[in-house]
Amino acid sequence: MGCKKKVLAVHVLVFPFPAQSHVSSMLKFAELLCLENLKVTFLNSHYIHDRLFRCTDVEARFANYPGLIRFKTIPDGLPEDHPRCGHDRFREMFESTRAVTKPLFREMMVSGELSLGSSTWSPVTCIVADGVMSFAIDVAKDIGIMSVAFRTISASCYRAYFSIPRLIEAGELPFQGNVDMDMPIEHVPGMEGFLRRRDLPGFCRSSNLADPILQFVISESQHNARADALIVNTFEDLEAPALAHIRTHIIPNTYAIGPLHSHLQTRLGGKTAVSLYTLWEADRNCLTWLDTQPSKSVVYVSFGSAVVMTRDQLLEFWYGLVNSKKRFLWVMRPDLVTGKDETPIPAELLERTSGVGCLVDWAPQEEVLGHRAIGGFLTHSGWNSTLESIVAGVPMICWPYFADQMVNSRFVSEAWKLGVDMKDLCNRGIVEKMVNDLMVERREEFVRSADEMARLARESVSRGGSSFCKLDRLIKDIRINSQ
Ligand code: UDP
Repeated sequence: MGCKKKVLAVHVLVFPFPAQSHVSSMLKFAELLCLENLKVTFLNSHYIHDRLFRCTDVEARFANYPGLIRFKTIPDGLPEDHPRCGHDRFREMFESTRAVTKPLFREMMVSGELSLGSSTWSPVTCIVADGVMSFAIDVAKDIGIMSVAFRTISASCYRAYFSIPRLIEAGELPFQGNVDMDMPIEHVPGMEGFLRRRDLPGFCRSSNLADPILQFVISESQHNARADALIVNTFEDLEAPALAHIRTHIIPNTYAIGPLHSHLQTRLGGKTAVSLYTLWEADRNCLTWLDTQPSKSVVYVSFGSAVVMTRDQLLEFWYGLVNSKKRFLWVMRPDLVTGKDETPIPAELLERTSGVGCLVDWAPQEEVLGHRAIGGFLTHSGWNSTLESIVAGVPMICWPYFADQMVNSRFVSEAWKLGVDMKDLCNRGIVEKMVNDLMVERREEFVRSADEMARLARESVSRGGSSFCKLDRLIKDIRINSQ
């Protein structure tokens, strides 16, 4: 990599894609850098910046690091009233980021303050850019500073994404002939036959290879290999084979430094709750409700920040949960249901929910998962939710919705044995059965694997653990390359 001359201090630019899970994991990373006395500029879209500062006390949080972090903003190119949620919306977000944010970013880095510095901030010496915004990697290359791609998905999923051109070449994509979604996929190296058609990301189901999301994922995944280093929010004991493959075939300097929320907590001495960086205000009353529930009795239900479902699907989940006769805490985001069906929720269902179910718009998830009353997690298998569940030792029912979630849920159920996968199914009978499997019938086996994986996760971020050492190494490399 090229080196910039006469740089005065290490100064890292951290630049996430403007979506909840990307911003929160990269903010945790930024805080980890601050803890090591590195200066950080965190670059958010205007929209995300406003929401983040409105919903959480980010300002107070980072007041702990005077002079070490500042927040800058850049437009995402979307109209203010754009919902920025759901699968279709992501496509618009990717497109506008490329059309609008990309040229502005280049300008900022080439001739703006970030490149020239100011009286208090020296020029940026390293760019850590979201792995789906590799245009930032090109800019780092052009101006001769260190470039690091940050993938917010699992290493296994990144490996699967990277293999898509190979699947196309081998004729496994687009799906041909019959529609057997259980047919094994043979051309993801190291995972031959493990993933089935249905476990590939949703955009692989398109019969159109020119599908813009598919093309976007292919090009970004290949592009990551141009960076000087790659960060993945995972740990060796969870994903050793995928990490080894990435290091050998894609990018040697790959740093597995996760689970980041747990890593940050360790380096903060375990004292501070880190459920802070979210774009919704968390309803903490649910913790009081949980305090009144028996140990391990509650199923926590959350589909993350971007999943949307029909009213019918919502009702299937709801009936399945009440029929299971288990208690539940459900995050029902106001924008969770699509369409304009205003039919009221059946009174009978609400009656059966009273006393056993607690509904909130948004929860302090990490604290919820760590609560003694939680016994299971019905999740959309977003990568952050999966890691948070792993650290808390909570078994999962997976209902993946799109993108990496399809791969994550396959690993949760078949590789790590941490729960069950109800991908592509959504009816009350299945929900009830899965809840009973998780909470009663197969409980012992899941709890055993979940306890063991939680132990390994915590070990990885403890002093001397693999993620702890990798972060030290990464920081050292950033310092060296900033000279
Ligand atoms: N989250 C939260 N409260 C909620 C629901 C989600 O704090 O009520 C957080 C959760 O802890 C996780 C993130 O939102 O860190 C969701 O990220 P994930 O990768 O699981 O899914 P995505 O939202 O990207 O689909």
